[in-house]
Amino acid sequence: MRSRRAALAATASVASLALTLTACGQDSDGGSKDDNGSTKGATIGIAMPTKSSERWIADGNNVVKDLQSKGYKTKLVYGEDDPDQQVSQIENLITQGVKALIVAAIDNKSMNNVLQQAKDADIPVISYDRLILGTPNVDYYASFDNEKVGELQASYIVDKLGLKDGKKGPFNIELFAGSNDDNNTRYFFGGAMKVLQPYIDKKQLVVRSKQTALNQVTTLRWDGGTAQKRMDDILTSAYKSERVDAVLSPYDGISIGILSALKSDDYGSKSKPLPVVTGQDAEVASVKSIIADEQSMTVYKDTRELAKVASNMVDALLNKKKPEVNDTKTYDNGSKVVPAYLLEPVAVDKTNYQKEVVDSGYIKASDLN
Ligand code: BGC
Repeated sequence: MRSRRAALAATASVASLALTLTACGQDSDGGSKDDNGSTKGATIGIAMPTKSSERWIADGNNVVKDLQSKGYKTKLVYGEDDPDQQVSQIENLITQGVKALIVAAIDNKSMNNVLQQAKDADIPVISYDRLILGTPNVDYYASFDNEKVGELQASYIVDKLGLKDGKKGPFNIELFAGSNDDNNTRYFFGGAMKVLQPYIDKKQLVVRSKQTALNQVTTLRWDGGTAQKRMDDILTSAYKSERVDAVLSPYDGISIGILSALKSDDYGSKSKPLPVVTGQDAEVASVKSIIADEQSMTVYKDTRELAKVASNMVDALLNKKKPEVNDTKTYDNGSKVVPAYLLEPVAVDKTNYQKEVVDSGYIKASDLN
C-alpha cells in the first residue's frame, strides 16, 4: 500500500497520460483523422449521475472542456439519480454514434446490457469515479484512492477526539455511509472502519445506536434528507441524556443533513457543542459550514484532474495508444480487474481550505461570502 501511495503521489500531476503502444494504423470508426491517424472530431458520450450535487456538474463541464480542447465533440447527459433513465440515455448515445463513453454510474450493477451494446459497437468505456460492476465491458477506471478517503475521514475523528494522544473516552460516534448501489461506498466505509474499529473494540468509541454494519448505515442515492431523518431517529432513540461526540459522514450533502438534525436537537449551543462531523467533495455549502465551525472537515478531490485523466484515457484509446494507469490490482469488478488511474484525496478543514480549495482555484473566494 505504501509504495502504491508513493507512486500515486509521484504521479499526481497528470500532465502526460498516453504511452504510445503502436504507431497508429487504420481506424474504421469514422470521424475525421489528422496526420497521426487520430479520430479527431469524433463525438464522445459522457453520462453523469445527477445535477443535484455541485461536483457532478463540475465533472461534466470539465470533461467536456478537456475533450473539446483535444478536438472532440461531446454529448453530456445527466441521469438525475434514476438508473433506468441513465441506461436509456447511454443507449441513445450509442445509437447516436459516439466513439467512446465516459460513465459515472448511478447504479453500478445496472449497466450489463447497455455496455454489451457498447462492446458490440466497438465503443470503449471509461468508468468514471464509480466502478461499474459485473461486466467485462469496462475498459479503464479513473478515480481517486477511495479507501484513503475513508481513512482521512476516520483519522480526522481520531485526532480531534485526541484518542491517539491518550484520551480514553468513551466517546459516542454514529456512522453514515453512502448509497449501497455505488461501489465507492464500501471502499469509503471500509477505509474508515479500518481506522475506527480498533477504538470501537476497546470501547473508547461507542456506537449507541448499535448500527455498525454497512447495510444498516447506507444512505440511498447519497440523499441529505434521508440522512437527516436517520440522524433524527438516532438522536431520539439512543441519545436521551448522552451526547454525540463524532459523526462519520461520507459526503458533504449527507453532512449538511446530519448537521440540520443535530441543530434541531440544540447541538451547536454553548452547553451542547456540535460533534466532529466529516464530509467529502469540498462543496461550497460545506466549506462555508467549515468556516462557520459547524462541519469539521471535508475530503477534497480535485475533479479537474479526474476529468483530465478520463479525457486522456479516451484520447489515448482512440489514437490506438495505451492509457496510463497506476493501479492494476485493487478494482476487481466481479468480472475482471479494471486497470485504474487513481488520484490522491486531501483532507481539508478550517486550517487549510484557503490553500487547498481557494488558492488552487477550485472554489472562488467570492462564492464563500
Ligand atoms: C463520489 C463522491 C460523492 C458521492 C456522492 C461518490 O461516488 O466518489 O465524491 O460524494 O458519490 O455524489
